[in-house]
Amino acid sequence: MFRDDPANTYEFDLASLTQRPAWHSQAACRGMKNINFYPVRGENAAPALAICATCTVQDECLAQGVSNNERGVWGGSTARQRRQIRTTTAVIRPRLDATTLL
Ligand code: SF4
Repeated sequence: MFRDDPANTYEFDLASLTQRPAWHSQAACRGMKNINFYPVRGENAAPALAICATCTVQDECLAQGVSNNERGVWGGSTARQRRQIRTTTAVIRPRLDATTLL
C-alpha cells in the first residue's frame, strides 16, 4: 500500500461517514422505537418534542438538524421550525457582514 494511493483516501472518507458523533450516545431518544421522530403532515410531533425537552444534547442535535436540512424532529424542533431558523439566519447574516465592513 502506497501513501498516496487513492484507496487510502477513500478508506478515510468512508470511515468518517460511518462514524457517529459522540453526542449520539447521550441522546434521550436513543432506543425509543415507539416515539415517532419523523411525523408527516397531520401527525403529532408533541411526543417526540417532549423527549427532546429532557435531552442533554439538544444544542448539538439542533445544529445538525439545521445544517444538514434533516427531516423530522431534531434538537427540540420540527422541520418547519428549522426552515424558519435557516431563513432568519440567512436574512441576518448578510446584514451582519455588511455592518462589519463599515
Ligand atoms: S434533542 Fe431530541 S432528537 Fe435530538 S438527540 Fe435529543 S431527544 Fe433525540
